[in-house]
Amino acid sequence: MSFRLIPGSQLSPEYPSIPEKDKEIVVDSVASVDLEKLVSLCKRRGFIFQSSEIYGGLSSTWDYGPLGAELKRNIKDSWWRKFVWERDDVVGLDSSILMHPDVWRASGHVDSFTDPLVECKECHQRWREDQLEERVCPACGGELTEARNFNLMFKTFIGPVENDASVAYLRPETAQGIFVNFENVLNSTRKKLPFGIAQIGKAFRNEITTGNFIFRTREFEIMELEFFVAPGQDEDWHKRWVEDCLGWYTGLGVSKERLRVRAHDTAELAHYAKATHDIEYSFPWGWGEIQGIANRADFDLKAHAEASGTSLDYYDDQTKERFTPYVIEPSAGVDRALMTFLVDAYTEEEAPTASGKVESRVLLKLHPEIAPVKVAILPLSRNEKLVPLAREVYDRVRGSGAAKGYVQYDDAQSIGRRYRRQDEIGTPLCVTVDFDSLDDKAVTIRDRDTMEQVRVAIDDLPSELGARLHV
Ligand code: ATP
Repeated sequence: MSFRLIPGSQLSPEYPSIPEKDKEIVVDSVASVDLEKLVSLCKRRGFIFQSSEIYGGLSSTWDYGPLGAELKRNIKDSWWRKFVWERDDVVGLDSSILMHPDVWRASGHVDSFTDPLVECKECHQRWREDQLEERVCPACGGELTEARNFNLMFKTFIGPVENDASVAYLRPETAQGIFVNFENVLNSTRKKLPFGIAQIGKAFRNEITTGNFIFRTREFEIMELEFFVAPGQDEDWHKRWVEDCLGWYTGLGVSKERLRVRAHDTAELAHYAKATHDIEYSFPWGWGEIQGIANRADFDLKAHAEASGTSLDYYDDQTKERFTPYVIEPSAGVDRALMTFLVDAYTEEEAPTASGKVESRVLLKLHPEIAPVKVAILPLSRNEKLVPLAREVYDRVRGSGAAKGYVQYDDAQSIGRRYRRQDEIGTPLCVTVDFDSLDDKAVTIRDRDTMEQVRVAIDDLPSELGARLHV
């Protein structure tokens, strides 16, 4: 497995409106994880597989295995909980991937959703000009062609006839589904400004170059929120959203010193944006964007109102004014968030074994809220006296819902190996059922990070687990 290096982005002067306390966050500390080890762990343990592997694989497309599917679901649930359920000013939406092609003309994507493509005159490899450090081919040093704008939208055809009239696009973002439903949501929910609409779903971009595992792919998932505000309040809300979004990553345990906020300079700004701040993480290959927070002003609603002939204005019944709202858009990749959590959680350390020897162990220090397996139930052995009680404990933990997630029963191999396996997949708590359990009706809870063990009564297990998982 090889990784393409993308040049580290330049840290532009810190955006002046980021509050002092968050400036502390802007410190260089590189995640030193060996990516090959992480990719191999992901495959071995069932987090992420190469797509279509038995056919030789399709480049830069990935499938999430049993544990990856749990992790991804937990990440999306956590985001939804924080930004929809825990607020009273955001509602959800689930719009379609295929939309009327006029949507993409009005939004500017047909004309402007492009990256500068250059081709090597020697080896004919293609590159994104804005990602090159020097103006020569990174593969062979050959001379490059002039850049041309390459549109990133995937085209397809609706219905049986493949002609210009049937062209449709796979959405490159979910935002436009939100803008064209602005009026529907407003009328059906009677929300007042400021309020937001959140959506999670697949997006597709025909990227010129992909790479760094799941960091840049052509099919990915995105968690987006369009927050509508009165003009004049946009800059304040922009700041608040940058802070709230940073808080989501740090709240789930991402190292503050590996996060920074970078403001786009004018040349980098997208066609719709008044200002954009990227949240970046210090990956082993350099800083990489994990989320953009854009102030899109009134660009989108105005563009769709004009192109569709439908007014997308807002009437403020307090001030008796009619205006087009401004929009703040936090937009985060699910896969990039997942990669961030994995890279940040990956830890190798020396640890004592049960026999007193010191061995190195690998663990994923994933926050319990997103860990794919919350609790593993481990009978000390497959002894026939032990199994019924262990199964009963397993059923009780699952049935109580105390773990608020996936609970695993694992009885293969020695208990030491099973602890290591659960450490490696990030399971915060293991529950061991041993021969004493038959008499004292108690089990041992083992903590992944401290390896501390405590004995608790089986009757108290659901509440003990709930308290330790903070779920
Ligand atoms: P980049 O500069 O890395 O191409 P972008 O600025 O085009 O990204 P946005 O349009 O702001 O990205 O998209 C919002 C978020 O969607 C990004 O912060 C990232 O997390 C995610 N994302 C964008 N493109 C991809 C991709 N090709 N693969 C995986 N995630 C992506």
